[in-house]
Amino acid sequence: MSRPLDKAGWQAMADTLTARLETRAYIDDRFVDAAGGETFETINPATGEVLARVASCDQADAELAVAHARRAFDGGEWSRLAPTRRKRVLLRLAELMEAHRDELALLDTLDMGKPITSALGDMAGAIGAMRHQAESIDKLYGEVAPTGEEALALVLREPIGVVASIVPWNFPMMMTAWKIAPALAAGNSVILKPSEKSPLSALRLAALAQEAGLPRGVLQVLPGFGHTVGKALALSMDVDCLAFTGSTAVGKQLMQYAGQSNLKRVYLECGGKSPNLVFADCRNLAQVAHHAAEAIFHNQGEVCIAGSRLLVENSVREAFIEHLLAAAESMQPGDPLDPSSFMGAIVDATQHRRILDFIRQGQEEGGRLRAGGEALDGPGLFIQPTVFDGVTEDMTIGREEIFGPVLSVFGFDSEEQAIALANDSVYGLAAGVWSQDVDRIMRVSRRLQSGQVFVNNWAGGDQSVPFGGVKQSGNGRDKSHHSLAEYTELKSVWIALN
Ligand code: NAD
Repeated sequence: MSRPLDKAGWQAMADTLTARLETRAYIDDRFVDAAGGETFETINPATGEVLARVASCDQADAELAVAHARRAFDGGEWSRLAPTRRKRVLLRLAELMEAHRDELALLDTLDMGKPITSALGDMAGAIGAMRHQAESIDKLYGEVAPTGEEALALVLREPIGVVASIVPWNFPMMMTAWKIAPALAAGNSVILKPSEKSPLSALRLAALAQEAGLPRGVLQVLPGFGHTVGKALALSMDVDCLAFTGSTAVGKQLMQYAGQSNLKRVYLECGGKSPNLVFADCRNLAQVAHHAAEAIFHNQGEVCIAGSRLLVENSVREAFIEHLLAAAESMQPGDPLDPSSFMGAIVDATQHRRILDFIRQGQEEGGRLRAGGEALDGPGLFIQPTVFDGVTEDMTIGREEIFGPVLSVFGFDSEEQAIALANDSVYGLAAGVWSQDVDRIMRVSRRLQSGQVFVNNWAGGDQSVPFGGVKQSGNGRDKSHHSLAEYTELKSVWIALN
C-alpha cells in the first residue's frame, strides 16, 4: 500500500492535475465545447486562483443531450440490457472510481474548498453508492398479483426514461453518485448537471464511465448555470424525471417547471435547519459537545444535514457550552490540502458574504456570540467556527438555513418543549437525540418531524438506509433500494386465461 499523501504531496498532485483538466461538456460519448462557445470560470476558494474555464451549456446543448438520451433509451442498448450485465458495467465504473479516488477527491477539494480528508470520506460514500446500486439491480423483483384463476397479473418495474440529475456543490461527487447510480442501474438514460461552482469531478467521472463501457448517450454531463441549462432540462418535454439536490427555493421552481411542461416526476432533496437535542441524562457531556461541534462545523457547515440548531437542557447548558467552545476552538479552518484540516474554505465570495451577513444579523437580533464570528484574512475565503447562545425561535439565525459554520444554541426545560422547538421549522431533514433513557429516545424519535433521526450519534448511516427529508426538505429518497425504486415505473400486465 502506498503511504497517504501529506500536504506537499497533495499540492504536487494538484499542480499536475490542474495542468490537464477536462473542461468541455460530455455529450453523446464525446467531449465538446458548449454550442454557443461560452465558458465560465471555476475558482479555488482557498486561494482565489482561477482553476479553469469550463464549457457553459445552454438550451441548445440541453436539447441535443436530451435527443441523444432519448435515442439511447429507445434503442435499448442499456435500458433493455439484462440487469446482470448492467451490474457488470457499473461495478467496473465503481472500480475505476476507486482507482482514481485521490484524483476525484482532489478535484472537489480544489473546486469548492472542502478539506481533502473530508473529500476522501465523500469518495467512500460515492463508490459505496455505485457498488450498492449495481449489486441491487439484479435482485429487484416484480410481483405476481393475487388474482383469481381467470387471469395472471404481473406488476413489472421498468426504467422511467430520460432522467436529469441536477446536483449541488457541497458534496459534488457523493451527491452525483447518490443520484446517478440508482438511475443508471434501473436502466435510465441520465443527463447530469453539476453545480456551476464545482463542475470538474463530474467531467472526470464522465471519462471513467466511458472507459467502464457505458453505451453512448446513457450518461451525459452538461456543466453550466441553473437558470440556463438547468432550467432548459427542467422545462424539457422529453425529460421524464428530475432528480434534484439543492436549495428549497430552487426545488420549488423545479416543481413549477414540471407543471408548465410535461408533468415529469420531480424528486427533491432540499435544505434543512436540523435540531440536535441534548438531554441532561446523556452519557458524557464533553464527548457529546465534541460531536455536536462536528455536526455543524464538518464541511464548514455547508452540509444539508448540519446540526445547526443545538437544543440543550438548561440544567446542563452552561457546562455543555464550555465543552462546546473548547471543541470549536480545536476546529479552526486550515488549508484544504493539509490532511489535518477539519474545516476548509467557503465555496465562493457570495456564500462567504451571506454567512457573515447572518452573523451580523444574529448579533443585531440579540444572539450572544460566544465563539468566532470573523472571517480570516484573504485571499482564501475562511470563516471561524461560530457559536451563538441564547437563540430564540424568532431570530433569523434560529430559523434560516445559513449553510456555513454558524451554530445556534437554544435552551429547554422539558422534553415537551424540546420537541416543540425542534419541530418549529419549515424543514424536516435530520434530527439528533442524545440521551441514555431508552423510553425517551423512542418517544422523542417518533415525534420528531424529520426524514432521519440520529440517536447518540450524528450523521450515522450506510447504503442500506434511505436518506431524505419531509416538509420543505424534500420528497425524494437517496440511497438504499428505496431510491432504486424511485427510478422505475410500475407497469401492470393483466393476462386473461381461459
Ligand atoms: P442551489 O439550489 O442553488 O443549486 C443546486 C443546483 O440547481 C445547481 O446545479 C444549480 O445550478 C441548479 N439550479 C439553480 N437554479 C436552477 C433553475 N432555475 N433551474 C434548474 N436548475 C437550477 O443549491 P446549492 O447552493 O448548489 O446547494 C446548497 C443547497 O443544497 C442547500 O440548501 C442544501 O441544504 C441543499 N442540499 C440538500 C441535500 C439533501 O440531500 N437534502 C444535500 C446537499 C445539499
